[in-house]
Amino acid sequence: MQFKTFKKFIYLDQGDNIGSVDLVQYMGSDLTVVNAARASYDKFKVEEENTELSEEDKKLIRYLITHKHTSTLEHNIVTFRFKVPLFVAKQHMRHRTWSFNEISRRHTSENIEFWTPNSYRVPDPKNRQQSLQKENFDPTVYITHGEYNVYEYSASALQKLHAKDCLERYNALINAGVAREQARAVLPEMMYTTYWGTIDLNNLVKFLDLREGGDAQWEISQVAIAVHEFANMLWPETMKNYKTPDQKKADEEMRFEQRVQQEVQKRLQG
Ligand SMILES: Cc1cc2nc3c(=O)[nH]c(=O)nc-3n(C[C@H](O)[C@H](O)[C@H](O)COP(=O)(O)OP(=O)(O)OC[C@H]3O[C@@H](n4cnc5c(N)ncnc54)[C@H](O)[C@@H]3O)c2cc1C
Repeated sequence: MQFKTFKKFIYLDQGDNIGSVDLVQYMGSDLTVVNAARASYDKFKVEEENTELSEEDKKLIRYLITHKHTSTLEHNIVTFRFKVPLFVAKQHMRHRTWSFNEISRRHTSENIEFWTPNSYRVPDPKNRQQSLQKENFDPTVYITHGEYNVYEYSASALQKLHAKDCLERYNALINAGVAREQARAVLPEMMYTTYWGTIDLNNLVKFLDLREGGDAQWEISQVAIAVHEFANMLWPETMKNYKTPDQKKADEEMRFEQRVQQEVQKRLQG
């Protein structure tokens, strides 16, 4: 099935309406998961326009997910178009179970855009891999030009200025006849790239496990959140049973608390 416009902007919080995830196409429904499981019995329920899942189907999906019979999710496939800064794409493309096709800066020098947030996070002193939100943090930065000329900028203004300078230098190289494949070397990591990514539902949730929360960088976690929301829309019953690592941790803590309470009760009574 093909969608015309299903787009989520992912960096609106940073004052950016460029970064986005689009749903391009998908295959399979919640019933596909049920049918994949019933392949074991050589059974199949034909899906028509208004086919609804029975209670038995829903129970089966719950069973499959809780018992990790997750190969049954691999017949559901989805394709997205991502528009993210290069450093986010680099993190995303470490996930080898996705199939990717990306814009080539060997082939085009058009539509160059940059991710320039309006505020910044600070390093987390307790976790090298993490950063902390600090409201409206846009510190003053001092840059020295020559021996005595010190210029003062806000961090966001400096980043925008750097983007503009890089683009001017890139265009100057292109106009002087330098090949795109070499001229692109002056373009920074904040440049937006676009690519298609296709994945099956089993590997999609594994991607969410790693990138939606935990130690993942905020900018890629926004990609994962958008992917998660699209998956909820396409396969609501299956996704209802998926728990994020944070939810699993909370459940585990709750079960531990309950066991402690039971033990205390037992000892008080005995
Ligand atoms: C918070 C965070 C920080 C990170 N920091 C760094 C970092 O500093 N430097 C860095 O280099 N990377 C870093 N990574 C990337 C990380 O090491 C993984 O490459 C990435 O998360 C993809 O995970 P994966 O290999 O499980 O996923 P996928 O590549 O999607 O693979 C999914 C699963 O398929 C199997 N698989 C796929 N390919 C192979 C293979 N060739 N051999 C064996 N099994 C395979 C594995 O079971 C794997 O878990 C970071 C990731 C996270 C989430």
